[in-house]
Amino acid sequence: CGIVACILKDKDAAPVLLSCVKRLEYRGYDSVGIATSSKNIEIKKDEGKIDDVQKRLELTDLPGKMGIAHVRWATHGLPTKENAHPHTDCKKRIAVVHNGIIENYRELKDQLIREGHEFRSETDTEVIPHLIEKYMATGSDLEEATRLTTHDIKGSYAIAVISADEPDKIIGVRKESPLIVGKGEDEYFLASDAPAILKHTNRIIYLNDNEMVLLTGEGITVKDVDGNPIEKEIDLIDWTP
Ligand code: GLU
Repeated sequence: CGIVACILKDKDAAPVLLSCVKRLEYRGYDSVGIATSSKNIEIKKDEGKIDDVQKRLELTDLPGKMGIAHVRWATHGLPTKENAHPHTDCKKRIAVVHNGIIENYRELKDQLIREGHEFRSETDTEVIPHLIEKYMATGSDLEEATRLTTHDIKGSYAIAVISADEPDKIIGVRKESPLIVGKGEDEYFLASDAPAILKHTNRIIYLNDNEMVLLTGEGITVKDVDGNPIEKEIDLIDWTP
């Protein structure tokens, strides 16, 4: 239901991510979760209200200057801790948050299970980190593996992906589900909705369907899902805090 991701310059990501997803609360949700990456991927997530989960788990107490966050409106799998996002691959080196529905997840999941992948949730989303894992295992980098994954999945999605093997990098892709990029002062954001990040920046890039963005500490690159670079304009949103 809502996604936020950020790479910050000299602050921890988790408290910023939590304050951003709080701004998406009005849309309704059943679970919340955050993953950050420094040497490893660390995840805290659960079903329940943001404030209650924060009290129980201290979502803001996660290391690292970059991460991804999610508020979930369950479509596949009950609202439980296991089904809350972020979801990971087998080795917990890749973490993904997703809005939307992967229509062909059943076939993909059965195939991945036959290939030895172990699943932890009932969600449609969990096929995404496993597909990325599979492509990275055969030599693709995170960007290429995510691109190949978008060729396999059918349905609607806005996703944000991080990997402990390529720290300082966030990949976002969208198809029939909103995703925007925010450019701060040496800080970069992704969000499903501008109000989530307007406190941090009003310089916004709107992604179209089948566009993929790569955020690093150095900048923003947008390509189509076949890997061709795309020039994007930055819109200034009028907004006073
Ligand atoms: N289909 C996914 C799930 O049920 C994502 C739901 C959402 O957009 O929040 O976990």
